[in-house]
Amino acid sequence: MSNIDSLAQAFMKFPGIGTRQAKRFVYFLLAQDPHYVETLAREISALKTTITQCASCFRFYPRMGTGTICNVCIDDADSSTLMVVEKDTDFESVRRSGSYAGRYFILGGTIPVLEKDPASKIRTRELLERIEGASADGLTEIILALSANPEGDFTRDYVLKVLSPLTSQLGVNITTLGRGLSTGTELEYSDGDTLRHALKNRG
Ligand SMILES: [Zn+2]
Repeated sequence: MSNIDSLAQAFMKFPGIGTRQAKRFVYFLLAQDPHYVETLAREISALKTTITQCASCFRFYPRMGTGTICNVCIDDADSSTLMVVEKDTDFESVRRSGSYAGRYFILGGTIPVLEKDPASKIRTRELLERIEGASADGLTEIILALSANPEGDFTRDYVLKVLSPLTSQLGVNITTLGRGLSTGTELEYSDGDTLRHALKNRG
């Protein structure tokens, strides 16, 4: 197999990338100057050593010393609310909007409708553990901030079902974002105003 084919196969693992797009990426790189390609290769190989995953919220952040908890989890954020989002880019959108001052948890994806083993698709066990730990810190509300599409709805229903025994035992409320998010919207594409509105109208 040529380097062209093997690199294209590597690109095909990227979300939403098919054979043709993967090949286009390879030919794009071949047309660039060597400096660009070297820098890109260096950035990719450094990624796993410079970035680490927070043991508390599970988002990726720049590694600092030997700590395992990110700056957002250790700063003096409001620990009475925990916002559950699907992925890192959703976390970034909410952060950027400046409309939320509490804690976060990255679910790690959504559950495809009719999935046979839903628990394996998201961080179910880790979320339960996080809630147990956070209740000692004064947690009173969990905000499910998932996308307004069929997969987001399915995931929200599953998470509600899994969490409710624990949350009712702990006296923690679960809320969901208001329908300020129009149907089909992914959280990461929502602008600041829409997010603020959806947060204000949660229930
Ligand atoms: Zn964190």
